[in-house]
Amino acid sequence: MSFQAPKGTFDWMPPRSELALAVRDAMSAPVRRAGYGYVETPTFEDTALFARGVGESTDIVSKEMYTFEDKGGRSITLRPEGTASTVRAVLQHGLQNGPLPAKVWYSGSFFRYERAQKGRYRHFSQVGAEALGVEDPALDAELIQLAAEGFASLGLTGVRLLLNSLGCAACRPAYRAALQDFLRALDLDDATRARVELNPLRVLDDKRPEVRAQLGGAPLVTDHLCEACKGYHEEVRSLLTDAGVAFADDPRLVRGLDYYTRTTFEFVHDGLGSQSAVGGGGRYDGLSEMIGGPPLPGVGWAIGVDRTVLALEAEGLAAPRSSGGVQVYGVALGDEARRLLFSLLIELRRAGVTADMAFGGKGLKGAMKGADRSGATYAVIIGERDLAAGAAQVKDLASGEQAAVPLAEIVTTLKERLTQ
Ligand code: ATP
Ligand code: MG
Repeated sequence: MSFQAPKGTFDWMPPRSELALAVRDAMSAPVRRAGYGYVETPTFEDTALFARGVGESTDIVSKEMYTFEDKGGRSITLRPEGTASTVRAVLQHGLQNGPLPAKVWYSGSFFRYERAQKGRYRHFSQVGAEALGVEDPALDAELIQLAAEGFASLGLTGVRLLLNSLGCAACRPAYRAALQDFLRALDLDDATRARVELNPLRVLDDKRPEVRAQLGGAPLVTDHLCEACKGYHEEVRSLLTDAGVAFADDPRLVRGLDYYTRTTFEFVHDGLGSQSAVGGGGRYDGLSEMIGGPPLPGVGWAIGVDRTVLALEAEGLAAPRSSGGVQVYGVALGDEARRLLFSLLIELRRAGVTADMAFGGKGLKGAMKGADRSGATYAVIIGERDLAAGAAQVKDLASGEQAAVPLAEIVTTLKERLTQ
């Protein structure tokens, strides 16, 4: 019997896996340059953290969580998202009592029991960033700009930014009520009617055409913002404009999580079909209190690594810069030459040259085939005659040119040639 990866999951295998690494690097580099520190939290948490921190009425909590009882009788959930865990960790370690904002980022696996399809998996990967403890439109703008910078550094040109404000505790209730009045008059199924009562903003996010068709005249949150929220949103918008970050106002943009307030945004890519969101985020000023902490405003985003790779492929940017291959491939004939080559490879790698060798005692022909397959630029061949001469053959695998180089000069010679 042979096993397959579980439904809704897949393996990242070389060389495509290089793209996942490239996305993680590209999305985290800008935040690291902006003073965000790396946090790593457990892959599972108490179920109640997500139930309260993400919200009972969300799709995530109501249908997508991997929840189980552990052997100690605790209810445990594999994390479906990163913000609740991050805020939990920040509070647990008292970062709210230190210099603010507390800026952190994370990268890892997330789990949602979803209807599996392209771009929607049960195990997926995100890079996220959060800034806690300060409510300042410059912080919202900073985070958005950093994500935009990350996408741009990958060479992506088709990522669009959608921006909205969801208002605050002062103005949201009136908007919520107006929206409920509107939605109650529509022709909706029972589950959606229940949602109208529980979380009416989420109905605006309904993807079904029969629902969408009725939402045309829905009241817009941006028409109901209080003066403070309006001013805040204007400032975020103008900071983004000044920073050259293009965005489109989307007054219908709401997000799946209950805890968002004010700034809300999504990065979408049109090459991905219906799974178009490559990332999203926003401000979540009420979250800390929801999970039992002090008032602690926050803003952050999470980028979907898997979908960002699909976006790279959709734009034809999929050729991995390094396919996991090596620059130098070693071939040795005889045990003594092999030992020498083994040490030489270590030296090369320490000098920053990527290097591999033929393993498993293949003959010269088989080993040279390995060299060609490796994609290396040079082969280093040590035969018995070379050994006696204290040299190795350095072969340019593209041109076929080959010359003897004294062993003591191999590392510097190759390093020089490879950086030309
Ligand atoms: P969607 O509307 O597509 O379900 P979401 O609002 O549930 O997205 P978030 O919780 O905001 O997504 O997660 C941030 C990002 O993580 C998404 O924009 C997406 O790129 C990625 N993501 C979310 N769920 C999945 C999944 N099941 N498989 C792959 N990527 C995902
Ligand atoms: Mg979702």
